Amino acid sequence: MASIVVPRLIERKRDGMALHPGDWTALIRAYVARQVPDYQMSAMAMAVVFRGLEPDELNELVDAMLDSGDRLDLKGLLIPRVDKHSIGGVGDKTSLLLAPMLACCGVAVPMISGRGLGHTGGTLDKLEAIPGFRTRLSLVEATAQLERLGVVMLGQTPELVPADRMLYSLRDVTGTVESLPLISASIMSKKLAEDLTGLVLDIKTGSGAFITELAQSLELARTMIAIGEARGCRTVGLLTAMDRPLGHACGNALEVVEAIAGLRGEGPPDLMEVTLALGVEMLLVAEVERDPGQARRRLEDTVSGGSALERLAAMVEAQGGDPAVIADPGRLPRAPVVVDYRAQREGFIRSVEPRAVGYGVINLGGGRRVAEDTVDPAVGFVITAKPGQPVRLGDRLATIHAGTEVAAEAARQVLDRAIAIGDPIPVPPLVSHRVTCDGVTPMS
Ligand code: URA
Repeated sequence: MASIVVPRLIERKRDGMALHPGDWTALIRAYVARQVPDYQMSAMAMAVVFRGLEPDELNELVDAMLDSGDRLDLKGLLIPRVDKHSIGGVGDKTSLLLAPMLACCGVAVPMISGRGLGHTGGTLDKLEAIPGFRTRLSLVEATAQLERLGVVMLGQTPELVPADRMLYSLRDVTGTVESLPLISASIMSKKLAEDLTGLVLDIKTGSGAFITELAQSLELARTMIAIGEARGCRTVGLLTAMDRPLGHACGNALEVVEAIAGLRGEGPPDLMEVTLALGVEMLLVAEVERDPGQARRRLEDTVSGGSALERLAAMVEAQGGDPAVIADPGRLPRAPVVVDYRAQREGFIRSVEPRAVGYGVINLGGGRRVAEDTVDPAVGFVITAKPGQPVRLGDRLATIHAGTEVAAEAARQVLDRAIAIGDPIPVPPLVSHRVTCDGVTPMS
């Protein structure tokens, strides 16, 4: 390891200069070996927030993070290995649909997911709403299941990119999450550790996303795509709307119910549209299809023919969950208090604020305020109201699923703030841009 004097590196970055080649590698190695204290690393992270990273520095950081732990080795599979990553949304259950759908198209899907972050939901919490479902698998177990079923969905393991686990928890408490290079290195090091041949990024954009500005979303997409492509992983990004929740259900078990409905061909149109758009890109980066129309038909066939639902049931069973929930979602946890939320005036839905809804789910107990909180899988909202839709006084706009009457009343007040009714407004497209290494294509 090159010898480094950490304060000099921090000063260099603070003053807007790039670190020398080898410095990031040495710093990350020393940090993971606990030779660099958190206070120095957080000062460095803050310097990066303000000064950014040069492309060479970012590349070195990604490789150093990747090298900090084990990786999946899936080359023996002999089929494409593709994942999708979303930058956090509300009501976003696309992973639950896409993983089995893609597996039915001859693509291996090693999906390593996270828990809810801030106001957004997490795939692991949704999966754990299924009684018995295990998300803690070793890399050996995950590989074996992938060979057998073509799909596995698990949480990050301790051996996978430990540098990110340490750095992310530090950034989380030091105001240093909001940095495009640090976000890119964090996400891409974890995804590349899955030994993927292709990756599709769902860059959520809008008031309910972590990134609200279009220019920043495009910059993030370009940065992550360059990282993936430089390492032999075909990477494509779609910018999708997060100015409203995706689908109707927001809350863990409710979202599993909706994902199952989607795989039966009965999903809300916006959920299915975004799912299919992402799925098409996954089939294209996997190179099992070349034509987007054909890719879409192939995905739709996995739903209409029932194979995707069967694959989901097989995955649930393989991971210790109750596969009967797929045929009978009524077996999922159910909240004791279910009340309708109705329109208090006539007009058009102007907004359904995802951030308010996301925090509303947390307040109902369906997410975490601190990492140690336990999650009530049953609670949440089913919001059928969509921006642009005309409504009459008394129309049902949503259903509240709560643990108590008091929690339901608080949730009703959340919806009062989240759902605005007034004059008609233009509604942004669900999928606004496609980003590849060749450039950006507006989709509307
Ligand atoms: N998600 C991640 O995994 N890392 C980040 O830095 C931000 C969001």
